[in-house]
Amino acid sequence: MTVRKVIRMGHPVLREKSRPLSEEEILSSETQNFIKDLFDTMEKYEGIGIASPQVGVAWQLAIVGVPVDNPRYPDTPESDTYIVINPKVTILDKKKQGFWEGCLSVPGLRGYVERPRKIKVEFLDEKAQPQSLIVEDFIATVFQHELDHLNGKLYIDRIKDTKMLAYNEEFDEFWTEEDEEDEADE
Ligand code: ZN
Repeated sequence: MTVRKVIRMGHPVLREKSRPLSEEEILSSETQNFIKDLFDTMEKYEGIGIASPQVGVAWQLAIVGVPVDNPRYPDTPESDTYIVINPKVTILDKKKQGFWEGCLSVPGLRGYVERPRKIKVEFLDEKAQPQSLIVEDFIATVFQHELDHLNGKLYIDRIKDTKMLAYNEEFDEFWTEEDEEDEADE
């Protein structure tokens, strides 16, 4: 088990555009071991997704998956876990939905972000096989958050109303009473 260090906002790699991987690179033992490390890191930090740039590697590779009973996102629906390489996103429903997002690279904060509610994601899996997936609701936000990382974007760039950016403690105290807003993220 190798837990990698998660880099934080301010580190320039988080602002880079990641490069795609070739089929040969995906199947290499280096990449396969890297994927294992990403899983270990995501579990250790209790994330519901992680992107390569967050451990300082600017590859178009991310993991998305909401486990049962994640302590950081207790009320979110469980999802399958996906290894997403060289993704292409198509918006299927422009109608926006908002969730409170957090990010392992922006620790201690939550912010309210609106994103398209339904998308199609085409990508390669860890065996370099093409996959196509249609996702909506919460998991669509998680995908968009993670795939933003591959383009050097952070969720804070997408916050429209900075009054809805809060530290975790204040978020718990002032913003979780009404259950009309769900929590999201990585
Ligand atoms: Zn993130």
